[in-house]
Amino acid sequence: MAPSLKTSLSVAMTTRLNPIFADAPTTIFETMSRLALQHDAINLGQGFPDDPGPEDVRAKAAQAVVSGWNQYPPMMGLPDLRQAVAEHYKRFHKLDLDWQSEVMITSGATEALADSLLALIEPGDEVVLFQPMYDAYLPLVQRAGGIAKFVTLRPPHWRLDEAALEAAFSPKTKAVVFNNPLNPTATVFTREDLELLGRFLVKYDAIAICDEVWEHVLFDGLTHTPLIAMPGLRERCIKIGSAGKIFSLTGWKVGFVCAAPQIMKVLAKAHQYVTFTTPPNLQTAVAYGLGKTDEYFAGMRQTLQTARDRFAAGLTEAGLTVLPSKATYFLNVDLAPIYAAKGSNAIDDADFCTRMVEQAKVAAIPVSAFYAEDHVRSVVRFCFAKSYDKLDGAVERIAKFVKKG
Ligand code: PMP
Ligand code: GLN
Repeated sequence: MAPSLKTSLSVAMTTRLNPIFADAPTTIFETMSRLALQHDAINLGQGFPDDPGPEDVRAKAAQAVVSGWNQYPPMMGLPDLRQAVAEHYKRFHKLDLDWQSEVMITSGATEALADSLLALIEPGDEVVLFQPMYDAYLPLVQRAGGIAKFVTLRPPHWRLDEAALEAAFSPKTKAVVFNNPLNPTATVFTREDLELLGRFLVKYDAIAICDEVWEHVLFDGLTHTPLIAMPGLRERCIKIGSAGKIFSLTGWKVGFVCAAPQIMKVLAKAHQYVTFTTPPNLQTAVAYGLGKTDEYFAGMRQTLQTARDRFAAGLTEAGLTVLPSKATYFLNVDLAPIYAAKGSNAIDDADFCTRMVEQAKVAAIPVSAFYAEDHVRSVVRFCFAKSYDKLDGAVERIAKFVKKG
C-alpha cells in the first residue's frame, strides 16, 4: 500500500527539509497577532495601519482588474510604473534613474530583498547585518549561502559605531543589508552614519542592499537621504522601496528595486525565477499613486505624527519611558526605569509583552525578537498607526497594568 501523504511528509520533515526553514520559529508578528486574537486584545504589534489607504488608488486597482490586462505583465514591471518610480525618486530624492535599465518591480520589498541576496551571494560570502533587524534578513542570507556578521545597535540612539563596523567587515564581506529608516527602532540614520558606512563599502568593495521601505514615513520635518545618493555610492547600492508603506496598503506587496545597470541585470535574473512578475492591476494603481501631489505625502506624515504624539503623551502619562520616534509606524518604550522601580534588573521584554497581552489585553512586539545574538531586552515596540479609539483604549489598559506592577 502506498504511504499516506501524512506519513511521507513526516518522514520528509525529519530527513529531507532544509533546517533554516524547518527549524525557523513562527515570526513574532504572527505570534503576537495570534495572542492578540486569543485574548481579545488591542493589537499594536504587527505593523499595519487602520487607515484603509487612499480611495483613489484603491479605485484604480479595482478599475484595472475589471477592465484592464490580467495576464502576465512584463517581467521587469509595467513601463508606466517603472517610469513613475524614476520620476517619483527624482521629485523626492533628486535621483537620476534610467527607468529602463535601473528600475524593476517586485512582489513587495521582501521579494526584492530575496532577489538581491540570491543575486549577490556565493556560498561563504559574508554579509553584514545590523541588529535589530527585520526578521526576513537572516534566513534569506543563510539560505543564499551567506555568513551573517552582526553589528549590534543599542538604545537610545541606535547609531553606527566605527569600531563595531571594523569588527564586522572583512575582505570576505560581499554585502550589507541596511534598513533606513530603521524598523523597529523608529530612527533615521544621520548623514555622518551614511558617510561612515559608505567608507566601509568602498574600503571592502561591498554592496549595500538598502531597505528603504519607510522612506516616506518620517516625522518632525526630517527628510530621507537614500544611501545610493551619497557621493561615490551610486554603483554600490541596491535601493529597495515598497508601495505598502507609501500608501498604507501593506497587503499589496508591490516593491521597487533601483540599481546601476550592471547590478540590475543580475537582480532581474533572480527575479525572473523567484516570482517573474507582480499583479498588473496593483502596478497600475501604484503608478497612479506615485504621481500624487506633495500635499498627499505631507498629509500622510502629519496624520501619523499626530497619532504618534497622542500615543506618546498617553504612554508617558501611564508611567512608561518613551524613546524618540522619528519615522515608521512605531514607537518604542524603554522598560529599564519600571524594572528599576521594582528593584529588578532582570529586564525581559518578551515576558513583559506576554503578560501585557494576557493581563492588559494590549499586544506589542518585544524588540529582542529582532536580534540573533547579543540581544537588547529592554525595549518594547508599539504600532501607533491606529484609530484614536484604539490608542486611547490601549493607554488606559497599559496605565492600569503598569500601576499594578
Ligand atoms: N523591510 C522592512 C524594514 C519592513 O518593515 C517591511 C514591512 N513591514 C518589509 C521590509 C516588507 O515589505 P513588503 O511588505 O513590501 O514586502
Ligand atoms: N513589517 C511588519 C512589522 O514590522 C510586519 C510584516 C510581517 O508580518 N511580516 O510589523
